[in-house]
Amino acid sequence: MKRKLYLETFGCQMNVLDSELVLGQLHAHGYESTDDRDHADVIIYNTCSVREHAEQKVWSRLGELRQRKLDEPHLVIGVIGCMAERDGTKLFQRHPHVDVLCGPGELDKLTTLVHNAALANASALEPNARTDDLGNGNRPAATPASYATRQVALMGATSRRSSTLAAAQDTLEMLDLSRAISPGDDLSQSYVRITRGCNKFCTYCVVPYTRGPEVHRPPQNIIDEVKKLTDAGAVEVTLLGQTINHYAYDHGDGRKTTFADLLYLIHEAVTDLPRLRFVTSFPRDFTDLALQAMRDCERICRYLHVPAQHGSDRILKLMNRGYTTGHYVDFTDRARAYMPDISIASDFIVGFPTETEDEFVATKELIKRCRFKNSFIFKYSPRPGTVAIDRFVDDVSDEDKRRRNNELLAVQQVVSEQLNSEMVGKVVEVMIEGESKLVSRQAAKKAYPTSNVELGWAKHAPSGDDVRLPPVTTTQLVGRTRGDQVVCFDGELSLKGQLLDVKITRAKNLTLFGEQVEALSLA
Ligand code: SAM
Ligand code: SF4
Repeated sequence: MKRKLYLETFGCQMNVLDSELVLGQLHAHGYESTDDRDHADVIIYNTCSVREHAEQKVWSRLGELRQRKLDEPHLVIGVIGCMAERDGTKLFQRHPHVDVLCGPGELDKLTTLVHNAALANASALEPNARTDDLGNGNRPAATPASYATRQVALMGATSRRSSTLAAAQDTLEMLDLSRAISPGDDLSQSYVRITRGCNKFCTYCVVPYTRGPEVHRPPQNIIDEVKKLTDAGAVEVTLLGQTINHYAYDHGDGRKTTFADLLYLIHEAVTDLPRLRFVTSFPRDFTDLALQAMRDCERICRYLHVPAQHGSDRILKLMNRGYTTGHYVDFTDRARAYMPDISIASDFIVGFPTETEDEFVATKELIKRCRFKNSFIFKYSPRPGTVAIDRFVDDVSDEDKRRRNNELLAVQQVVSEQLNSEMVGKVVEVMIEGESKLVSRQAAKKAYPTSNVELGWAKHAPSGDDVRLPPVTTTQLVGRTRGDQVVCFDGELSLKGQLLDVKITRAKNLTLFGEQVEALSLA
């Protein structure tokens, strides 16, 4: 019988992709995914360390499993990703019931670690195994002896040595290349990594420590992966990297493939792929050649996510970002000169140590000046192991951080609303992601005027003769434009994963609303 596997992912798109890749490997080795954590044989958390809040969620999940592990000692509990790498074996002190620790740079080893942990747990349960427990009676619980069999794979401090780098690169490359595609997988929106790790060392950020040094993947491997996904039904592929525009592959024979080269290569090699995107860009060193590639290649989406992080040059310096707001504004102007219709999104940190009110106001001004489509706004969170936590006192109060966060969101909302209102009347191509969360009673009544049933009822409707309504096929769908704007419109559920032309009829907050162009012409 297949062993049941529950995997929960926290954090960024990189983690989503890592989870997909390790799931493929585990499925190939006889594990079967389940959404039911209570009946899983293996529970894995793919974790994020970027902010404390993300870590707290995992701590609480692990706390919930403490008793279960005592009751079911065969259960395998794994912590993978950035928290595993950052905390290392110290994590066992707080949560001794964890069996497997695996950092993001070692995920190719996860299947073996899980398998070994299952064997170790089973042998610890054999009749002659020790039964001293964690102070919970005589149950054959995970014993101190069995702790020695814990499975750990971390990059540790050796990760920045070049000799280990080459070897690590090869085995990790296999993880991406071995990507398993099964019939029925929803690949309409897929991720492909082009660069691992990060060399920037922004003072607040754990990523260079948890994901290791920047390693660029060979261009042919990337192209092959994009092709494979497109042949299997991908409509949109997003290339991933922490500073993606710094992609530069050295072939070792004097040839170099730059990010601009890579964009042209993928665009030319995979002509059946309707949409190619990439995240996240770094504001420094975004070349004109890369902007020209975006302009020239019609299937590359006109969207840039380029986190500015702050509007004050002093704070940017303390953050070690390596650019000024002047450079940043020049970049957005340059991008818009090449592509007037491009939409640009940013990230900002509020409450960085020593941030004054005036400096915070400068961030507001930057949002207005650069007219971001949207911004992801974060309260500064001091992270152990980073330069900022040692060098600066976290001196902006929680109250000020919260207030600045809300004020910045409000400024961004005004800009987003302005940009959205300029879209009304336009016809845009939308990639349909599925049913909208905004599915409303009103819409249901429009579709079925005599019923009281909300759209989406099919999931919850009582069965039996009392339900005589036609099956719901029309609902409110949500999708994204090439510029990453969110669009809601009524349509058939079966359209999920397709591209469709939609006329924008109104704009509200961060969402556009519209009607299918085909439906309009039939009306
Ligand atoms: N590589 C991307 C870049 O440099 O723009 C960002 C990657 S990071 C995982 C995602 C976002 O998390 C960052 O853009 C930053 O705004 C935020 N972030 C990172 N560390 C943080 C911290 N210690 N406190 C608050 N936000 C943080
Ligand atoms: Fe973190 Fe800076 Fe690297 Fe982005 S560029 S991952 S913020 S260190």
